[in-house]
Amino acid sequence: MPVRQLYRLRAPRTGREVLIPAEPGKVYVDEDTGEPLEVVGKVLPLAPSNSSLPWAVDTLRFCNWCDQPAQKDLNDCPTCGRRMAALPR
Ligand SMILES: [Zn+2]
Repeated sequence: MPVRQLYRLRAPRTGREVLIPAEPGKVYVDEDTGEPLEVVGKVLPLAPSNSSLPWAVDTLRFCNWCDQPAQKDLNDCPTCGRRMAALPR
């Protein structure tokens, strides 16, 4: 079975967000309100990653070695494999 692209969709009125493997050209509606969902972003799964976090702005940081995005719950950078510096608090 092919891996389907995950998308982040938002209901404009309620602001509720869902992650679903959406198909291009298909319209998705909110289960409760019936309003059409708008696409907020694509979730990029990076294959060799131990992270369970989606690739969204608020779950990413930048590696201090190679400056590539990495999920905040990872200790080692998925791009260069080096241990990233502790996150500032
Ligand atoms: Zn790196």
